[in-house]
Amino acid sequence: MSQHIKGVGAAPGLNIGQAIWWRKEKPVVETRSISDTDAEVEKLNQAIEKAREQIQELRSIASQRMSDEEAAVFDAHLAFLDDPGFTGEMKNRIQSKKQNAESICQEVTDEMSQLMASLDDEYMQARADDIRDVGTRLLLILSGKQPFDPSLLKPGHVVIAEELTPSDTAQFPEGISGMVTERGSKTAHAAIMARTLGIPAVLGLGEAIRQIEDGDIIVLDGDQGTIQINPDKETEAAIRQQIKKQNEAREQALKEAKADAYTADGKRIQVFANIGSLNDVDIALKNHAEGVGLFRTEFLYLENDHWPDEEEQYDAYAKVLKAFGDRPVVIRTLDIGGDKDLPYAELPKEENPFLGHRAIRFCLSNPDIFKTQLRALLRASVHGNLWIMFPMIENLAEIRQAKALLDECKNELKNEDISFAENIPVGIMVEIPAAAINADLLAPEVDFMSIGTNDLTQYTLAADRGNEKVAHLYDAAHPAVLRLVKMTCDAAEKAGIVVGMCGELAGDTAMTEALIGLGLHELSMSAGTIPEVKQKVRQTDSEKAKELAAGLLSQKDGDQVRRFIQEQKS
Ligand code: PEP
Ligand code: MG
Repeated sequence: MSQHIKGVGAAPGLNIGQAIWWRKEKPVVETRSISDTDAEVEKLNQAIEKAREQIQELRSIASQRMSDEEAAVFDAHLAFLDDPGFTGEMKNRIQSKKQNAESICQEVTDEMSQLMASLDDEYMQARADDIRDVGTRLLLILSGKQPFDPSLLKPGHVVIAEELTPSDTAQFPEGISGMVTERGSKTAHAAIMARTLGIPAVLGLGEAIRQIEDGDIIVLDGDQGTIQINPDKETEAAIRQQIKKQNEAREQALKEAKADAYTADGKRIQVFANIGSLNDVDIALKNHAEGVGLFRTEFLYLENDHWPDEEEQYDAYAKVLKAFGDRPVVIRTLDIGGDKDLPYAELPKEENPFLGHRAIRFCLSNPDIFKTQLRALLRASVHGNLWIMFPMIENLAEIRQAKALLDECKNELKNEDISFAENIPVGIMVEIPAAAINADLLAPEVDFMSIGTNDLTQYTLAADRGNEKVAHLYDAAHPAVLRLVKMTCDAAEKAGIVVGMCGELAGDTAMTEALIGLGLHELSMSAGTIPEVKQKVRQTDSEKAKELAAGLLSQKDGDQVRRFIQEQKS
């Protein structure tokens, strides 16, 4: 009997394949007293060296099949092998508790990973997965057990596992149809790798996954976050047909996406990519992004164990700018705080981090950190078409202070004889309701505005963007949010500046016509949706879109907005 099971859609796409369990042997660990503690420490040292060889091998596989960015996960694993708080602690405890290496290894791994997982921070939670990965590897080596043999995986397989680590996914051969796990979230490294490899993934299905047996036929829908086990023949045939159509439509859209996007009546709408690391550049170019509408620079800070210096930042920005030539690249200055914490920064805990000291607020009160980024941006500007964007702007004073610091950096560089581009456009994100309501006051001070609907929605509707309990209230298509979008677009029009959108709403193809009607000039999104959005732009008549948009503003909620759009189409 076929049934749908709901999990988290972690990498998009519909696919079908044969289940294969990635079984992980869990070594049964007994606690034993030992007298020769030095010999036991030596045993652990040898296991560490063996683990190092294995991880180095995985690192080189990952850098061949993916990118240096992905391979860097294994640098973190290697670092844990030498971490005094991890393996160092194991050695201390073997000496002090006089217990066998296996039991101490398990004890320290459990403690450290639980501590990190308990922190209310996605980044640290991902580190907990890394610790478990390294700890399990050490345990397997210490107890002489064999890990799963990846050569059992064949093209067309859907990999089923309690949890998949980056070490696991790096060993997937070409042609895997999907991955399905009991535990895991969208932000887990394994999910990121699945997106990079283009493998649909549904994670976090819970215990329901246990009913899957090797050889079962699995349908997985990475967009909806659902799987179906052993569909009946008719359903299977219908799904195969749907996958075929989806792939053909996608190929067609991708072919057409080579051309820049104009509405049916000739209005230019720029369709840009959001990127979160250098690794996303290739995918953006393959999907024919006309530029970058949002380069989130946080990765430079999150993936480091220190504040990234000017040179490190310059290199990253220059690479992206060069890749896009004369196409615009909007680089957003640091947006930490809120859901993005930095382990090395020791930021004080706040009662309401999303309403707290984040993004531009943090940068303005830490001018040294901010100026390092601004100098790196200015220096990189000679390599392409840089636009600088400040996040979380709430008032005019913030814009003026940020621009003053930018001018200070320009003067410093001039004095140092270091060149930078003239006339770099400077803009703001409109993601706080006050900025949208006062957009007419802010617009004359900047060269462009970009609407961040992810935050704008949570602040307008008082619904935390990451809290599942209020997810039913969180809807970027809510008319209250759309009214703020309209106010921002009207203000941009009056000031004669460009207005774009870089929140998730920009990539929602059901909303493309409405967004054009509201007055947006540029839409920026995850690269995968660019071809479909370009198609929608071409099908849109800008005058009719205006009528549609006007109708939306008098709807009562997001559901009504979507229904209204559907009705207008039929
Ligand atoms: C937004 O808030 O819409 C946005 C694009 O920024 P982020 O998701 O990085 O907060
Ligand atoms: Mg935001």
